[in-house]
Amino acid sequence: MIKQTEGIVIGLIAGFYDVKTVSGVVRTRARGVFRKNKLKPTVGDHVRIQLDEQGTNYLVEVLPRSNLIGRPAVANVDHVLLVISAVEPDFSLQLLDRFLTFFSWQNVAVSIYLSKTDIASNVQLEKMRQDLVYYEKIGYPIFDNWQKLANELPTMIANGQIWTLAGQSGAGKSTLINHLRQDLNQATQAISTSLNRGKHTTRTVQLFQLGQGFLADTPGFSAIDLTPIKINELCEYLVEFKKASVHCKFRGCQHLKEPQCAVKCLVENEKIKRSRYDDYLLMRAEIANGRLPEYLK
Ligand code: ZN
Repeated sequence: MIKQTEGIVIGLIAGFYDVKTVSGVVRTRARGVFRKNKLKPTVGDHVRIQLDEQGTNYLVEVLPRSNLIGRPAVANVDHVLLVISAVEPDFSLQLLDRFLTFFSWQNVAVSIYLSKTDIASNVQLEKMRQDLVYYEKIGYPIFDNWQKLANELPTMIANGQIWTLAGQSGAGKSTLINHLRQDLNQATQAISTSLNRGKHTTRTVQLFQLGQGFLADTPGFSAIDLTPIKINELCEYLVEFKKASVHCKFRGCQHLKEPQCAVKCLVENEKIKRSRYDDYLLMRAEIANGRLPEYLK
């Protein structure tokens, strides 16, 4: 008898797909049809699998994706934990704004973790914390303490959600993953150990269970490209600009030279952070030029 069930691809290994279903992890092979369609199942994909009596399991269908981000790619990402370092490399609001705008465009929620605070001076830290208060106010949860993050993260990952990391290289993403992996669910660990027959197999990205959902064990990605964003839509991806724009005189206001612009007015009154506005202009220029700006090269 052939039985079908659904699950989430949590790992790829040597041509096999490990699929987490309600009754455990099943190792499957993709049906040849995927190769013909050039549709490659990816970690994070919701899939339909087929189990037959001989114990041969096939991945037969990839269900529609909400997104596909990162390199290696993870599908259906709900939330990004953005790791921004306090020092080495130096804290950068420009970088922070680029990441936040990118994920807003991808319709992915973000929490911010300020790393390497232990090697920053108190003066530097105080300034960064003041900056981050603004980001918390516009809706981004902020963590600047490793222990607090480790304690709260499992409770923040809602049922079945997929989280991944992002942030500049050198910000400590791999260290963070290794710390978090220690909380790896015992049952999941036992299953993956029994499934890993070969010793010399290389894994790509894998999802591990954290709280009620999953965290991708990849350092995520450090480089983002804003140039595919339509220039006239950019302002919609800065959350507080979008909120204020309903009060602009002109529909579709780009908050540049238009009269009675609510966004510019809030910038003047210091209700919108000026650096956010300046970064908006830089990102516009980046999209208009179709390439990365000098300061990021
Ligand atoms: Zn405006």
